[in-house]
Amino acid sequence: MRRLSDRTETFTDSVIRRMTRISNAYGAVNLSQGFPDFDPPAELLESLGHVASSGSVLNHQYSITWGAQAFRDALAEKQSARMGIDIDPDEHIVVTCGSTEAMMAAMMTVANPGDRVAIFSPFYENYGADAILSGAEPVYVPLVPPMFSFDPMRLEAAFRDEGAKALILCNPSNPCGKVFTRPELELIADIVKRYDAYVITDEVYEHIVYAPHVHTYMASLPGMWERTISCSSLSKTYSITGWRLGYTIAPSGITDRIKKVHDFLTVGAAAPLQEAVACALKFPQSYYDDLLNLYSGKRDLLCGGLDDLGIPHTVPEGAYYVMLDISEFGYASDLEFCDDLARLVGVGAVPGSSFFKEPENRYVRLHFAKRDETLRAALKRLGGLRERIAPHVG
Ligand code: GLN
Repeated sequence: MRRLSDRTETFTDSVIRRMTRISNAYGAVNLSQGFPDFDPPAELLESLGHVASSGSVLNHQYSITWGAQAFRDALAEKQSARMGIDIDPDEHIVVTCGSTEAMMAAMMTVANPGDRVAIFSPFYENYGADAILSGAEPVYVPLVPPMFSFDPMRLEAAFRDEGAKALILCNPSNPCGKVFTRPELELIADIVKRYDAYVITDEVYEHIVYAPHVHTYMASLPGMWERTISCSSLSKTYSITGWRLGYTIAPSGITDRIKKVHDFLTVGAAAPLQEAVACALKFPQSYYDDLLNLYSGKRDLLCGGLDDLGIPHTVPEGAYYVMLDISEFGYASDLEFCDDLARLVGVGAVPGSSFFKEPENRYVRLHFAKRDETLRAALKRLGGLRERIAPHVG
């Protein structure tokens, strides 16, 4: 038999999704793959039921390839107000199958095979695969712990010396919880404009930013609308990760191209789900305040519990992930540590090394998009961590 594609030969299973399978196998409390174990808003479920039973045949057929009109109209209104940009529902939006497809379509729209794309490390694991699938070559720029700050000279070198054509910017960041400050974003924007490059954002945690930090949209900075593809999703904001609804927002010249890439990739996101979710895009501000309160409480619960146990960890500025420092256990492999954590302690985590380009082995990632009782159960089990996992020496 002839060999399968070279391009995909080096692909491994997603470590995040693998850890969910391992957690399930050991009956562990799964704090690895980030998704809620609580219901979406009741209004959204009612709306889904209504769309399913309305008998309108069109709700069950393809929507317009770049997204159902009701969805795009509601999204344009919501995001225009938040981003401070006049977003046109027909010209500037493509609705995709999650932000995962949005990012892939954005990469294929911007990059030619052989082009370089700058990625901050640690990074969400899909970006590396997106680069490979689109033929682009990733250039990694470290976000240095403990503050996950970056060296502007190193970032500039990615464009000046390595010729990066675009930057992938996950803000708020998965996994490190960094929320880029406005001065940091201005600095990045300045470099990107100077080297005539693009920014592809991943802003799926835009509504989960803890005070006093605030979310600034890269596309809203002077001169950046023209060169930014903003990708986001409804998964985290409305607790519907399984609905697979995401989108890109970009100027019409770029959006025209994304529409075509998206059409050939997937034709469209699920039509009835797009119809059903439009009501959520019109929720009042109080919905987003409540969401943030909910996650602030969960962050305090998990971080406070880890403090009580004396387990060192990061405190996220945004998103819903915490990185635990496991250096005291002396494991040569954090994958092995996570296997032991699921098997012996009963908690599912993601090995930090799957997010870093650098040889980093001292972190594991937990998420807190779970009911308080689930988080308490995980903390209870983590109470036995040092008893059950002996330090590896030598
Ligand atoms: N973004 C989530 C995480 O980092 C879910 C990833 C996924 O499996 N799509 O865990």
